[in-house]
Amino acid sequence: MRGEIISVGTELLLGQILNTNAKYLSEKLALLGIDIYFHTNVGDNEERLKECLNIAFNRSDLIITTGGLGPTVDDITKETVASFLGLPLVENIEAKEEIIRFFEKIGQTPTMNNFKQAFFPEGAKILPNKNGTAPGCIIEKDNKIIIILPGPPSELIPMFEESVYPYLKSKTNETIKSRVIKIFGLGESKVEEMVKPLLFNSNPTVAPLVGDGYVTLRITAKGHDDKEILEMIEDMESRIRGIIGDYIYAVDEEEMEEVVIKLLQKNKLTLAVSESCTGGLLAKKITDVSGASKVFNLGVVSYSNEAKENILGVRKSTLESYGAVSHETAKEMAENIRKLANADFGLSTTGIAGPTGGTPEKPVGLVYVGFATNEKVYVKKLMLSGDRSKIRTRTVLHALDIVRRYLLGIKID
Ligand code: ATP
Repeated sequence: MRGEIISVGTELLLGQILNTNAKYLSEKLALLGIDIYFHTNVGDNEERLKECLNIAFNRSDLIITTGGLGPTVDDITKETVASFLGLPLVENIEAKEEIIRFFEKIGQTPTMNNFKQAFFPEGAKILPNKNGTAPGCIIEKDNKIIIILPGPPSELIPMFEESVYPYLKSKTNETIKSRVIKIFGLGESKVEEMVKPLLFNSNPTVAPLVGDGYVTLRITAKGHDDKEILEMIEDMESRIRGIIGDYIYAVDEEEMEEVVIKLLQKNKLTLAVSESCTGGLLAKKITDVSGASKVFNLGVVSYSNEAKENILGVRKSTLESYGAVSHETAKEMAENIRKLANADFGLSTTGIAGPTGGTPEKPVGLVYVGFATNEKVYVKKLMLSGDRSKIRTRTVLHALDIVRRYLLGIKID
């Protein structure tokens, strides 16, 4: 089913309010497998609203309007839809009684214009409004569906959930499900190039998106049967895995740190970290994961050279000859924290997160990550882009990815 949303309200066009109704409805309609191809904002103007309805009627099966159901003269949605469809407005007695009850409850008397809200296009199905005085309605005509909803989200959302969702579910009988594949170590354009033929698939669809330091591919499938949808997603996932391989580190909500903690737990191994440029972010990410205490035993933030020397035992000669941001310092930081913590692995970060502190030889974004095992020390040199926060976040991802790769027996490049 093809749908579109027409949001009515001059305040939307003036930038006074954000169209959160369209965002909410689009998300919900996607879950029902309804394709939303257009969002339109139009002011409280009969002629222009009719123009929008006319366009929408020609290209969509479902039109949802929001706003313009109030009692005042500038609230014209129902009247305009009725006139556009050539339907008379008829009073609904139940809706009228509901308005009277609402005003009794708040200790006020309704004015004549309040009763305008009890009139609906002939044949419409009325949608009760428990949170306001303006009921919504559904009109079916010429194989099209028009759903008229109030503007305030506090009225629209409960009305959608209680009445519109079950109605549309019975009409579409379709469900949509998604799975997000998370990729680290390949840029967005590279990923796109690799999976290009899959991006043209219509069901399931595959869409690339950039996260903070990583790339995702969202697989979205729709169908009538949950099992069938899941099979479509799994089939697409294995095709993607066949192309992207080990660069895929997680699926859906799972984060890199959770993947690493799980692997350490599974192998009964421990990790300690010594950080400079990440300032504790690496330890924070690790300890964000419940159960980290079983595999993480020490984190040191050694920001000054003295701390690197006195606490971590980095040699003075190393710091003097190569500097704090160097292959050699990262190596000793990783080796020494491993020994200090009596851990299986030591992980270190040292770099220039900026925006100041860079030199032509050691520019902002230069980072070294060290990883020590009982047999070997790996040091990875990175040239990262972005602001201070991005450089730190990306460093943490790189550091954790090295541990992931090592534990899965994937080459650390
Ligand atoms: P009322 O009975 O309150 O007049 P209505 O159905 O006529 O409701 P509008 O008058 O168009 O709706 O809007 C009322 C309020 O609802 C707006 O001032 C705004 O706060 C909110 N609103 C309207 N449309 C939207 C929208 N698209 N997204 C978010 N909020 C909205």
